[in-house]
Amino acid sequence: MSECEHKDFEATVTINRLEDVKRCVADVRIVCLECKRPFRFLGLPGGLHPELPTVSVDATEARLPIAPADFFLLEDS
Ligand SMILES: [Zn+2]
Repeated sequence: MSECEHKDFEATVTINRLEDVKRCVADVRIVCLECKRPFRFLGLPGGLHPELPTVSVDATEARLPIAPADFFLLEDS
């Protein structure tokens, strides 16, 4: 088995609506296109939280809370 250098990636994003708390969460997964190895998200706590980013137990799925932006244009600050 050759050692893959992981040069190309495929990202999958699934948006889930959490009806009970009226929130949306973007579930993100990333795999290497060549060897299909999933990548782990680093530095995020495990579990589920409606307002904070978390990861699945195996750290391969990031769960990112999202909300509609209040403005369409970003202002320079
Ligand atoms: Zn790879």
